[in-house]
Amino acid sequence: MQTPQYDVAIVGYGPVGATAANLLGQSGLRVAVVERDPDVYFRARAISTDEETVRIWQQVGLADRLNADMLPGAGANFVDSDGRPFAKLLPVDRGNGHPPQQFIYQPAVDRVLREGVDRFPDVEVLLEHEFLRLNEQPDFVELTLNDLTTGAQKTIRASYVIASDGGSSSIRSQFGIGFSGQTYSERWIVIDTKVLNEWPGHDRLRFHCNPARPTVDCPTPLGHHRWEFPVHDGENEADLLNEEAIWKVLSAQGIDRANVKILGFACYSHHVRFADRWRVGRVFLAGDAAHAMPPWIGQGMCAGVRDVGNLCWKLTAVLNGALPVAVLDSYQSERLPHVKEVTNRAVKVGELIIERTRWKAALRNHFFRIATKVPAFNTWLLNNRWLPDAHYPEGLLARGGSPAVGWLIPQPRVVDENGSEVLLDDVIGGRWTLLHIGSGHWPSWQSTGVPLIRILPAGSEPAPGCIVDRDDVLTRWLAEKKAFAIAVRPDGFVYAANAPGRPLPPPPKGFRT
Ligand SMILES: Cc1cc2nc3c(=O)[nH]c(=O)nc-3n(C[C@H](O)[C@H](O)[C@H](O)COP(=O)(O)OP(=O)(O)OC[C@H]3O[C@@H](n4cnc5c(N)ncnc54)[C@H](O)[C@@H]3O)c2cc1C
Repeated sequence: MQTPQYDVAIVGYGPVGATAANLLGQSGLRVAVVERDPDVYFRARAISTDEETVRIWQQVGLADRLNADMLPGAGANFVDSDGRPFAKLLPVDRGNGHPPQQFIYQPAVDRVLREGVDRFPDVEVLLEHEFLRLNEQPDFVELTLNDLTTGAQKTIRASYVIASDGGSSSIRSQFGIGFSGQTYSERWIVIDTKVLNEWPGHDRLRFHCNPARPTVDCPTPLGHHRWEFPVHDGENEADLLNEEAIWKVLSAQGIDRANVKILGFACYSHHVRFADRWRVGRVFLAGDAAHAMPPWIGQGMCAGVRDVGNLCWKLTAVLNGALPVAVLDSYQSERLPHVKEVTNRAVKVGELIIERTRWKAALRNHFFRIATKVPAFNTWLLNNRWLPDAHYPEGLLARGGSPAVGWLIPQPRVVDENGSEVLLDDVIGGRWTLLHIGSGHWPSWQSTGVPLIRILPAGSEPAPGCIVDRDDVLTRWLAEKKAFAIAVRPDGFVYAANAPGRPLPPPPKGFRT
């Protein structure tokens, strides 16, 4: 029998693998997804996501469906051992067209992502197949799988492989790629519940910064609620992993059996780790296989979704001969610094929550109570918000001196040429586009067939080849960046922009549409 051939094999069908399968499936590539388990992982794990992540899911037409099952967040409240707030972090809308922070129930998200993949006939999902090993050849990669339903081994071939096989990635191990960093000794018990009867404050994310037992207390959608608390030194983890012990911790939060039904609990370690290399030849690590961070700012999964949002359009372009293979090197150089910064912020927020020394915790509470009365401090706090800017300083970018280059363009509502009000990416998303204000001539771009779209000011009449900038968001953004023409990559990041008095740099070498 002939070995099945694919453009891309994705190993691991968690949220990262499923997002990649949607992105590649939408591009019309032939894809195999290899997953050991028969169904989505039943434990909830991720409880929060952000606007940039949902924007990536929008690209594959799933944002509305996913948003319907999410709960917009109203900020994180940091409370002392008496439940009195001492600080609040508000999610700041960064203009991506979706709520800045939303709570999720991960199994529901995973399910919708997989339903999305079912739309693509060229994506073959091999559930209950365990990846065993791979063998890289000059033109393809051969993967050996174990069909867990029959015990038979099979091989498939793919031009490229995405290893989204989670934190214990066997592909990472097989290549001997280090996963440098640290694992914290403290273990955390995570409890997922179904809400039976609501209680005051059930709808707020609260970090109970009690030095005796810090606890995360978070509403999750579809009638769920999450608590997380640490196992103390001297406590036996196994003694805490039973309903009676869990009820003791919940009752300390004022929650009883009338409020919730316990759905499950598990113990996790927190890690700060990064794979030493994200690419070996034709194989790319993504998601937890490439990085691990503590969950404090709800970014582990989001970072993985960003990884494949960055990687998949590049793989598609290379496979279609639209860009040279060298562009694939920009995957790690663009993503790693961002992931490192996100992780840094997660660690800092965690330090705030888990302080165990009573006097230091009292000092922290006092400091925040006073400092948050000072407007400048609040501004600083907001500016140092959850997420670093969506900006790549290095990568597949035409550095021409324009401050617009490397930024994710905002996604306002615009009026398309038919007069319909839509989100920007519904017009430009997933493909290269040249956006410009006023008229102009950009032969190096026009000759490649990249669509040119002119931005008209708010209130203009819709016109062919134009979008009306309903609230002048794009016009203001471009003015701030001193650009009037920008070439936007399929992932929404600005590849090139005209610097004042200078022409728009040409497309990347070897580019064609
Ligand atoms: C308590 C907790 C809270 C969290 N909170 C958040 C949050 O609020 N927001 C957020 O963004 N993130 C959060 N995270 C992180 C998030 O859950 C992970 O980052 C995310 O699930 C990783 O997705 P992934 O697809 O990379 O890996 P996974 O979800 O781990 O998927 C990997 C898949 O690969 C499969 N696999 C592995 N090996 C093989 C093999 N050899 N063959 C075939 N298949 C294989 C596995 O079965 C699995 O299905 C949290 C994590 C925890 C533990």
